[in-house]
Amino acid sequence: MEIIKNVKGTHDIFGEETNAYERVEAMMKSIAELYAYNGVRPPVLEYNSVFVRGVGESSDIVRKEMYTFPDKGDRLLTLRPEFTAGIMRLVVQNKLYATNELPLKLYYVGPVFRYERPQLGRYRQFNQFGVESIGHNSPMNDVEVIVLAYTILCSLGLEGVTIKINTLGDEESRNNYRTALKEYFKNHIDNMCVDCKSRYELNPLRILDCKVPEDRPIIDGAPQIGDYLSDASKARFEQVQDALATLQIPYEIDKGLVRGLDYYSETVFEFHYVSKTGANYGAIGAGGHYGKLMQELGGPELPGVGFSFGIERIVSVLKDDNLLEDTKNELDAYVMPLGEEALLVSEEIAVYLRNSGGYKVDLCFDKTKLGNMFKRASAKHAKFAVIIGEEEMNNDSVIVKNLSSQEQITVKVDELIDKFDELLTKEETQE
Ligand code: AMP
Repeated sequence: MEIIKNVKGTHDIFGEETNAYERVEAMMKSIAELYAYNGVRPPVLEYNSVFVRGVGESSDIVRKEMYTFPDKGDRLLTLRPEFTAGIMRLVVQNKLYATNELPLKLYYVGPVFRYERPQLGRYRQFNQFGVESIGHNSPMNDVEVIVLAYTILCSLGLEGVTIKINTLGDEESRNNYRTALKEYFKNHIDNMCVDCKSRYELNPLRILDCKVPEDRPIIDGAPQIGDYLSDASKARFEQVQDALATLQIPYEIDKGLVRGLDYYSETVFEFHYVSKTGANYGAIGAGGHYGKLMQELGGPELPGVGFSFGIERIVSVLKDDNLLEDTKNELDAYVMPLGEEALLVSEEIAVYLRNSGGYKVDLCFDKTKLGNMFKRASAKHAKFAVIIGEEEMNNDSVIVKNLSSQEQITVKVDELIDKFDELLTKEETQE
């Protein structure tokens, strides 16, 4: 029968790659916790309106990329295409802004879904890790989020990450800018792609996200937000830059950086890294400040700032740069029953070593030769073999063999955990 394959744009994660994802995510979580963030898990499914109102009707995500469908009760649901809007829905619904000190600091990790054209570093289901710091308008809140993201990337071993920053200004700045863009594109829009034509009507700012090569020269000549900033937004952006400089966080100003989601205002940023192989997977992370998102979702007018990393892209660059060397799943011991009679005792010993000793242990269920069991132990990267035959069973003992030095000793079962503690400590100090 024909095999069924995974859905286009999705990918399976297994073997050592699973360990790589888990380690990367664990590192991200532990550093977010150092910065006083707490985990949050919004559902994958939300009402469509969360994203239409949150991410914005003029964004590519809402216009083209969402997996939206009516459920059996005819409710219009969407598989989350990003986390921020869903988290804001969670914060508003559960009134977390009223019951916590602000800023409320939340981190998340999990899959998101976007109907995009699959290519290098671009999937339809991918994983994001990110944070939101909600309810404080200090520019220092933007700075802290950038510092946290940069710290995570450095801790993963990435050197030379480029941080691009820009400001989209406050509402006044963006209104003035929108008017200027409308004026500029008025004479060009007839020659631009169909998407740009509808962006022109919905939100001319989104024209700047257009990736059609023929449209680029027109877009490159468009006015830039920097020339339309209010005094307050200019001052805020300068404060952000001063603080980044003081904290020795390297950054570049990219005046063309506008981000594709409608909720951003003031500071926006992206993290870029080209791996040593030269592969460029696109931005490895991005984020920014948002002023009105909570209000759009029916909450109070509280600003926030957040970033999101693409875990697939980060794992790819770490893999390319050999920064994921130790992702093998090692075993402390592989238990080998000599004959079927020894299987139950072997299971008992394996459970004992795991539950009482905290050791990572597997055992052989098959009736097979000792030589085969050694091959399996080595394929599973076991440090020790625990061999149990008739003689050992009669003496309440087991044979413990160090699989790298080949030394072996007989150990009484009631001394086994102590012996393992001793042997493994010795192994670790030798590594
Ligand atoms: P965004 O929510 O669009 O700001 O994206 C945040 C991060 O998610 C990006 O910087 C990428 O690292 C990652 N990302 C976005 N889209 C995709 C995709 N289709 N496949 C894989 N990673 C993605």
